[in-house]
Amino acid sequence: MQDNFQYFIPIILNISRYFLFAGIPFLIFYILFPDAFSKNKIQLKLAKRKDFIREILHSLQTTFVLAGVGLLILQTPLKKYTQFYDKLSDYPLWWVPVSVLLALLIHDTYFYWMHRAVHHPSLYKRVHLVHHKSVNPSPWASYSFHFLEAVIEGMVAPLILLLIPIHPIALILFAFSSFMINVYGHLGFEIAPKWFRRSLLFEMLNTSTHHNLHHAKFHGNYGLYFRFWDRMMGTEHPDYVKEYDRIQKRRFKQTTPPTTSWTSGAIPVILLILALSALSATSSQKGVEGKWKFLDNGAVIRIYEKEGLYYGQLIETGNEEDNRKLQANGQVILMRNFKKESPTKYCCGTIFAPKKNKTLSATLVLENANTLRVNAKYGMLTGSKTLYRL
Ligand SMILES: [Zn+2]
Ligand SMILES: [Zn+2]
Repeated sequence: MQDNFQYFIPIILNISRYFLFAGIPFLIFYILFPDAFSKNKIQLKLAKRKDFIREILHSLQTTFVLAGVGLLILQTPLKKYTQFYDKLSDYPLWWVPVSVLLALLIHDTYFYWMHRAVHHPSLYKRVHLVHHKSVNPSPWASYSFHFLEAVIEGMVAPLILLLIPIHPIALILFAFSSFMINVYGHLGFEIAPKWFRRSLLFEMLNTSTHHNLHHAKFHGNYGLYFRFWDRMMGTEHPDYVKEYDRIQKRRFKQTTPPTTSWTSGAIPVILLILALSALSATSSQKGVEGKWKFLDNGAVIRIYEKEGLYYGQLIETGNEEDNRKLQANGQVILMRNFKKESPTKYCCGTIFAPKKNKTLSATLVLENANTLRVNAKYGMLTGSKTLYRL
């Protein structure tokens, strides 16, 4: 029962995320207090009821596609190719917020180039037109995609999970913050505070006006969260800042013409490089110790250090009969006497191959924090095996 329940979690999370985060702003801005926010309205005309219905139906389809992608990665053997980790202590705690920020940066880059591709005339009608039927978008439009676009949008999840280590907490934070920003982009009302225009954040982040202009004009402003790709590639709509200032002037009755520099758009790229190099430093510190599983036969070993040398004890053999023998025999040490040569290479040890009943000389190579390669030599022959961290 509990096993079945976990298959419903991504579906429940996706649907409740959509109806809560799109529904509450819709209720506030479109139903309860539209007059109070009249000065915030970006396009003066009102979207129609039939637009909301179309947006909700397509968004529901998208929530199922995204939940399906989530299940496919995390509930099938595909999971072992990802860098998903369950134990918070596997990485430093600061990695949780940094990984959320990195996931947003990766998503923004993926989205920008995918978005430009689906605006190509050969793909636009078949893939992206459904989203652009909302010329004056509402929060309900946030996931209003054609089925094919929903699948392409969903592919960012495996990409992120392949590229960076992600804890479930970070994944949930990413999923919720990503959708909240998405709803803000489709809100139809500008709610950015007055100080925002003078801050560096204005130079880096998209606003509701930014994405609204993409829906109104169909071209320019392809980015999702950040301005830097549009600014670097020269695709930001030339009227964006003027349009933003026009709305904020209407709200706050003042002009705000500070000087801006495009170079601040490069800040996310610098943050990305810094965080990745910090992570690679910490993952190599983590070393070879811990539990590892052989990819080919499912056997599990525990690698530990003793007096400067590394050993690997067999914990599970991969089949029940051998496991019983293992329990009867007590400790079985498969790997012996590996010496740490560099943070990623352990050399000159031996590994016992039970099937050949031979001891082979071997080297261990940490390919990344979660993948270990055992390169063994047997006479003139060489071979290698891959292990995954548990
Ligand atoms: Zn578009
Ligand atoms: Zn949109």
